[in-house]
Amino acid sequence: MEEISTPTKTMEILKKYGFHFKKSLGQNFLIEPTILDKIVRIAAIDESVGVIEIGPGIGALTQKLAEKAGKVVAIEIDQRLIPILQETLSTYGNIKLIHGDVLKLSLKELILHQLKGFQTIKVVANLPYYITTPIIMSLLEEKLHIDSITVMIQKEVAERIQAKPGSKDYGTLTLAVHYYAEAKIIFYVPKTVFVPNPNVDSAIIQLKIRKHPPVQVEDEEFFFRVIKASFANRRKTILNNLIHNLIGKGQKEQLKIFLRSIDIDPNRRAETLDIKEYAKLSNLLAKKLNEKNHIDNI
Ligand code: SAM
Repeated sequence: MEEISTPTKTMEILKKYGFHFKKSLGQNFLIEPTILDKIVRIAAIDESVGVIEIGPGIGALTQKLAEKAGKVVAIEIDQRLIPILQETLSTYGNIKLIHGDVLKLSLKELILHQLKGFQTIKVVANLPYYITTPIIMSLLEEKLHIDSITVMIQKEVAERIQAKPGSKDYGTLTLAVHYYAEAKIIFYVPKTVFVPNPNVDSAIIQLKIRKHPPVQVEDEEFFFRVIKASFANRRKTILNNLIHNLIGKGQKEQLKIFLRSIDIDPNRRAETLDIKEYAKLSNLLAKKLNEKNHIDNI
């Protein structure tokens, strides 16, 4: 089959349908077949794999995925692209096109109905950048039975995901992704391989979903609340952030004593704590709060 992703073919398709890009939908189409081949190779797709693709565009990546995978389910929000995709991908019998918003669909249901029988399910996509983080977080938080997520995203977001404690990029997104997956930036991609060119550089990141979290957390909801509160103001100490955003004023001295008792210096900043320390902090803080019903008594 002729490659959709060459610059000439892409332009031909866009012209034929009089398609105009919608910036608001993050429409930057890839026009470099070798990059698409590399993405598919890194995702390690074969016939035993069921793939979910978010935002197929005109089908550049979808085509390459369908050539290797058992089945590809592609979700596209833009109604104007549906007839185009029906034509560009018409020779593939293993693609299910879904017109919809990935953030509104139940991916659990979709997997159940469309990818029944596949032991291995992977997400592969060139994501719409305006909703990169919500898409990644909903894929992780829904605890879907997926193996890995291999996606093209903004370089800056990829670096935040892969950041190490102590760096300026390290934050709530790093910790949230780290809790669910092992993240690795595979390679960087320049702006020039897209039409139209985006404003930012991109990176391919792979998230391998963990079977078990790297730390034991008693209450996940509270764990993430503690992290969010700790990072609310990066210039403030962990003590002040927790006081202002979680515990409430008037408890400062008690919280200081508590933090010292669990070997966390109250003057540290949120970005210096690793995931183990956040697990310890949230587990022990929750316990104290539950025991005494109020931090006043810690
Ligand atoms: N896969 C194509 C490629 O690599 O050339 C297109 C990628 S483009 C960066 C992102 C695609 O996601 C667009 O086709 C856009 O219409 C679609 N999209 C945007 N928001 C979406 C959403 N909420 N749900 C599903 N698709 C969406």
